Amino acid sequence: MTAKVISGVEIGKEIRDEIKVGVDKLIDSGCKPGLAVILVGEDPASQTYVKNKEKSSIQAGMKSEQIKLPETISQKELLEHVEKLNNDVSIHGILVQLPLPSHIDEDLVIKSISPDKDVDGFHPQNVGKMIIGQETFLPCTPHGIMEMLERSGIDIAGKHAVVIGRSNIVGKPMGQLLLQKDATVTYCHSKTKNLASFAKQADILIAAIGKAKFVTDEYVKEGAVVIDVGMNRDENGKLCGDVDYDSVKEVASAITPVPGGVGPMTITMLLKNTLLSAEIAQREGKCSLLQE
Ligand code: NAP
Repeated sequence: MTAKVISGVEIGKEIRDEIKVGVDKLIDSGCKPGLAVILVGEDPASQTYVKNKEKSSIQAGMKSEQIKLPETISQKELLEHVEKLNNDVSIHGILVQLPLPSHIDEDLVIKSISPDKDVDGFHPQNVGKMIIGQETFLPCTPHGIMEMLERSGIDIAGKHAVVIGRSNIVGKPMGQLLLQKDATVTYCHSKTKNLASFAKQADILIAAIGKAKFVTDEYVKEGAVVIDVGMNRDENGKLCGDVDYDSVKEVASAITPVPGGVGPMTITMLLKNTLLSAEIAQREGKCSLLQE
């Protein structure tokens, strides 16, 4: 069996086209969605992510604001920037690029973002809403994966989903979103014993580990759907996932590549959340082009 490739580039484009229609409609009614991204320090990977987010939001027709702050900024000053954006009616989504320098309390910064503008879906209030199934901003990477599964016609209800990784931004919310769609969910992590025996039971296997080519064909049941969240460098410095693509594609029924899989979906869902936030602001009479 050679797996069907689930392309995040194609599905992402389909969703971005839908977002563009939504943005144009909102602008016609007098409201332009705005996304602000705060970048602290000079980390090259973070700079690239922020640049991509800016480019994508402009392509979607949104207002984009980038705030670049020095590595040495104090926590107090950073919180003041967030507060200013919380009160800016032309901004509907606020994102603070992680990780932050060690002298800054990341949890405190996340909590300082207004839950109404928390388009990353990391604020504890929004995490709680997600877990009890209330409408909220869903974390972008797992949300993007749900879109990939659903738009690829993959049934989730009744399936055994195994999630390897339990981070707050990927693994944990991933399992919750699959549970909400009636999957039976198993979480695995670094302390899991006999990991391969759990992974091999999965109908849907999600790898969110951060270890290059960790999941080989020995971890995968014949016909499983395999989603690779990892973004790593292999021994030649080439971008690769947590899944050993070449061996696993011979066993799986569907697989996401790296690059071109989950990656493009994450920014797409950020735009979707920003549009949603602006639509809510518009409904509540809190958005106007004139206020830019
Ligand atoms: P993270 O915070 O480092 O979490 C990694 C998880 O993997 C942890 O729960 C850890 O378990 C588990 N783990 C580590 N080694 C393991 C092992 N040997 N066996 C089983 N589990 C193991 O990473 P993350 O933020 O979730 O990201 C995971 C990967 O996805 C990274 O490669 C990251 O770059 C990538 N990523 C991609 C996107 C995208 O848009 N494509 C977005 C976010 C992240 P413990 O909890 O026990 O330590």
